[in-house]
Amino acid sequence: MEKLSNPQKTIETIKKYEFAFQKKFGQNFLIDGHVLDKIIAAAEVTKEDCVVEIGPGIGTLTQYLAEAARNVIAIEIDKMLIPILQETLADYDNVTVIHQDVLKTDLRELVREHNEGRPVKVVANLPYYITTPIIMNLFEGRLPVSSVTVMVQKEVAQRMQAGPGTKDYGALSLAVQYFAVPYIAANVPPNCFMPRPRVGSAVIRLTRHEKPPVEVDDEQAMFQIIRASFNQRRKTLVNSLHNSPQISKTKEEILRALEQMGLSQTVRGEALTLEQFAALTDLLCGRE
Ligand code: SAM
Repeated sequence: MEKLSNPQKTIETIKKYEFAFQKKFGQNFLIDGHVLDKIIAAAEVTKEDCVVEIGPGIGTLTQYLAEAARNVIAIEIDKMLIPILQETLADYDNVTVIHQDVLKTDLRELVREHNEGRPVKVVANLPYYITTPIIMNLFEGRLPVSSVTVMVQKEVAQRMQAGPGTKDYGALSLAVQYFAVPYIAANVPPNCFMPRPRVGSAVIRLTRHEKPPVEVDDEQAMFQIIRASFNQRRKTLVNSLHNSPQISKTKEEILRALEQMGLSQTVRGEALTLEQFAALTDLLCGRE
């Protein structure tokens, strides 16, 4: 069967099933073979791998994954796509399609069932409206995932990879970098999709750390402090933390912690590294 990366085949399939694209599901299907090859290469998919794909659409990336991997679990929310996937993936006996919302799926159970609980690779052209919840669920849920290679909005990829002191640096950069090493593998223009998205895209690979790069007594408290620090970007760190209803520390306590760390009273959150956020958290909320 001709691959769906051929735009003619995609058009033919969509017409045959009278498929109507749903904006609310972030449906922009890939129609460029080079980009698909780049995704497979960035994810380093081999015949040893069990891959979880989020949002297979009509199966374009799934066809490439099925050829490269041992087996593929593809989770799709849109019921109109399920009969299409049955046809476009008919040649592959190593793909399981699951009709579900990925945010409500018990991924741990799926990985146990299909890969004996061993780490899987997640590979996807993500629906952009839920990029952050999907990635944070994978990481914070401590699921057995060795890497996540995904197409996301270009700006989001830049935020994930940004370092301290840059305009893109924020809570997302720190959350992602606590769990993984980010690497932008390719930038992808709108004409590689059908329909074309209004934004640029990028393929980013997040390779899971074996263990987090910093140690902190209370991980949840650190993420609360990080989020509060970037809520009001222009304010000093002291004011941002003090104004946050989630953080019950006095100005004096925060100033004392900054002083102990050798930081200025007027420092802003965007100047702090992950190590410094961990140290600040231990000073403010750590075990005695
Ligand atoms: N993988 C296909 C491709 O590359 O051509 C389609 C990618 S498209 C950007 C995103 C896909 O995710 C769509 O098929 C959409 O229906 C699906 N999707 C959206 N929200 C979802 C959710 N919560 N759970 C599972 N799939 C979802």
